[in-house]
Amino acid sequence: MSDCIFCKIVNGEVPAEVVYNGPNVTAFRDINPQAPVHILIVPNRHIEHIRDWAAFDGDVLKEMFQAANEVAAMEGIAESGYRLMFNFGPDANLVVPHLHLHLLGGRPLGPMVARQE
Ligand code: 5GP
Ligand code: ZN
Repeated sequence: MSDCIFCKIVNGEVPAEVVYNGPNVTAFRDINPQAPVHILIVPNRHIEHIRDWAAFDGDVLKEMFQAANEVAAMEGIAESGYRLMFNFGPDANLVVPHLHLHLLGGRPLGPMVARQE
């Protein structure tokens, strides 16, 4: 996808602080971090959504989890804990339509979903 920001980061066309670079997966720091550690883990190939699950081969998913483990250890939060999160669609505030796994940690993250007043 030529106009996809995450494809451009994977290809090195747009700078990002890359913390993991593997055959199927790249991980880089979120530009607008919501926690002391906020990393985005993305497939190198443009996969838009889990509805495209058939386009995944097992290696991609496995490497996304491998990257999450490695990055959490590198960031020193493997024991203190972290949250892994996918957003899909408007109710989840999806902004970038290239599948990405948020890895958040480095402070107590509180309840999983903010309560509505
Ligand atoms: P979403 O809401 O789609 O799940 O999250 C997209 C995330 O991508 C946001 O947390 C946003 O800060 C991050 N993001 C958007 N554009 C860029 C960019 O150009 N570089 C980096 N490193 N992160 C980005
Ligand atoms: Zn993309």
